[in-house]
Amino acid sequence: MQKETFDVFCPTCNILVEAKVIARGFGEYRSDAVNPMDEVDSEYHGDHYSVALCRRCNGPFLVREALYGVPGEFETVTDEVVLYPVSGGPRIDGLPESIGRSVAQAHRSYAASSYDACALMCRRALEALCKTLSAKGRDLDRRLADLEASGRIDSRMIHWAHGVRLVGNEAAHDVDTAVTVEDARDILEFTEALLLYVFTLDTKFRSFEARRKGRAQPSATGVAQPNAAPNGGPATPSGSSGVTEGPPSVS
Ligand SMILES: [Zn+2]
Repeated sequence: MQKETFDVFCPTCNILVEAKVIARGFGEYRSDAVNPMDEVDSEYHGDHYSVALCRRCNGPFLVREALYGVPGEFETVTDEVVLYPVSGGPRIDGLPESIGRSVAQAHRSYAASSYDACALMCRRALEALCKTLSAKGRDLDRRLADLEASGRIDSRMIHWAHGVRLVGNEAAHDVDTAVTVEDARDILEFTEALLLYVFTLDTKFRSFEARRKGRAQPSATGVAQPNAAPNGGPATPSGSSGVTEGPPSVS
């Protein structure tokens, strides 16, 4: 039986919504399975993919249903996973645990519609970032300025960080102003983009440069080694998203 709708969490509406199926298709039946059309009384497993649209905002979803059945007898869905949009933010390789905790809490706060708490957690992630990078200054404003002055983080990103800081300050001190869903979503994205840049992409780029340098001088002794952290490589293909543990790859 094919579903016409799915109940899914829409990150744009930030609530549970009904999404209407507009397209569907089957993946290959797995190699250990048989073609359900040919063999009677044989078990089969397969995947069923559906594209659905949020009834409120029209945002798209890709849903995979794992099917298990016996031809002519029954077919049942054993698992249902939303493949897109990915929940929990991007995977940030090399993110120190101290920062990852705040980001994870910001996500949980956002999902629970606690936008003030989300802003506070984003600001705390920045505090933890400054500590990890040994930024100097007596408050967050000055510590961010220090990171900019030392060239550790580009000016444009520092501009984003100040935006996050200011919303976080409002959430902490301004009892008359509530952080809106749009502001919470934006600063969460800015925070993650900043962390992705510092901990994943920068490390990856240094590794890329070192690799190319090594290729250019294959016979030279003391070929440049990637100075990236050992976990600076590509993400392991585990299905989890969000933060990963590992030593800080920056100093
Ligand atoms: Zn929606």
